[in-house]
Amino acid sequence: MMDGGPYRQAPVREACPTCATPLPEAERGQLQACPQGCGEWASALTVSERWADALDRDRSGRILWQQAATALPCIHCGKAMLHAPRAIWGTHRCREHGVWFARNARARFEGESTLAAELAARREAIRGLAITLREALAGDRNAQDALVRRIVDLEREVARAIAWSESARDRG
Ligand SMILES: [Zn+2]
Ligand SMILES: [Zn+2]
Repeated sequence: MMDGGPYRQAPVREACPTCATPLPEAERGQLQACPQGCGEWASALTVSERWADALDRDRSGRILWQQAATALPCIHCGKAMLHAPRAIWGTHRCREHGVWFARNARARFEGESTLAAELAARREAIRGLAITLREALAGDRNAQDALVRRIVDLEREVARAIAWSESARDRG
């Protein structure tokens, strides 16, 4: 064994769990697709940023992640990942490291999951807001007005969300 040295902390190169082809590096929040088309890897951080807990619930309630003989190994720790049934079949998950979407599993998941769709729409809205903000800061009067309206709307949405979560807690 080597004595560590400057590369001791270097991350292992991530490889496709299906064909072992190295996965491309990803920016924060981006998925890593296998160049051979086997699927896509989303780190645990990416999963929580993009989909919050959408991978834990679907229309009918909680998604039960299960051990399965067909589960792929996690690309980080090598442990057998968990498998989701039904709608997001083809999705494998290591609770600690992330999620592997086989081929079209992510599109299926995003199509099936209302929450994932909402989050995707929200991401788009945030991008639009960033553009408006830049224009407003550059002095565009229309953008400034739009920004004021948007912030007021957001405050209302936050107030509604708080009220909703309080009432959900009261219902138990
Ligand atoms: Zn592959
Ligand atoms: Zn893992």
